[in-house]
Amino acid sequence: MNSGKKPNPPMKSGVNNFIILGSSGSGKGTQAEILGRKFNLKVVDGGDYLRKLIFSRAENSRRVSEKLNKGKLAPTDIIKEWIRRQIFSKPISRGLIFSGQPRMIGEAKLALKWFKQSGRGLPLAIFLKVSTQEVLKRLKKRYICSKCKEVYTLDKPPVRPCKICGGKIIKRSDDTPRLIKNRLEYFYKQVAKTLKFFKEKGILIEVNGEQSVGEVHKEIVRKIKFYKTKSQKPNTKTINQKV
Ligand SMILES: [Zn+2]
Repeated sequence: MNSGKKPNPPMKSGVNNFIILGSSGSGKGTQAEILGRKFNLKVVDGGDYLRKLIFSRAENSRRVSEKLNKGKLAPTDIIKEWIRRQIFSKPISRGLIFSGQPRMIGEAKLALKWFKQSGRGLPLAIFLKVSTQEVLKRLKKRYICSKCKEVYTLDKPPVRPCKICGGKIIKRSDDTPRLIKNRLEYFYKQVAKTLKFFKEKGILIEVNGEQSVGEVHKEIVRKIKFYKTKSQKPNTKTINQKV
């Protein structure tokens, strides 16, 4: 869609780091990718990381896969360490966009602390609001690789194996309406405090995630611009970027 265009230069002043949150089926991964290209941000996706971790059979992989298979969140210590590494290991000249993390309040508080310590300044959080009904409709089309857990959106049952690992693409056994509703309830319970925390800090924008991909993107960009203008008033603190 935007493939012919050059990415915009990274944002010079103010916010250059983002956190995008939303339930499964909210489209946060897609929006993170588009924003990443547009503003030259590094997309950091907790889901990707966890899928790779499980696939790697590293020390922690079993703990993670057990939780995820039950529809629970990954252990918070693993997530925190991953967040910290992302914030500190990349040059601060390149903004980050976290997709799907931090979700728990403890992770969110630490993330903000680390964002400040690293010299990146406070990030802006974007929440994609999508109703349960819409999520159910979208997840009907969702399939997953049985090996590497890559997610596919398909109108019809898959005919090809996974493009990444060649594994079999299947319907997730817990993608039934009842279990999806349970997961959503669990998600909102976990994320509610975090959203409230971001809101109180004045770093949350909420976007209607039920529009088309393009429309959601436009609303996000509009709200980022509005946020930047608002936060660049002369007497607000400017972010101290170390060079
Ligand atoms: Zn695969």
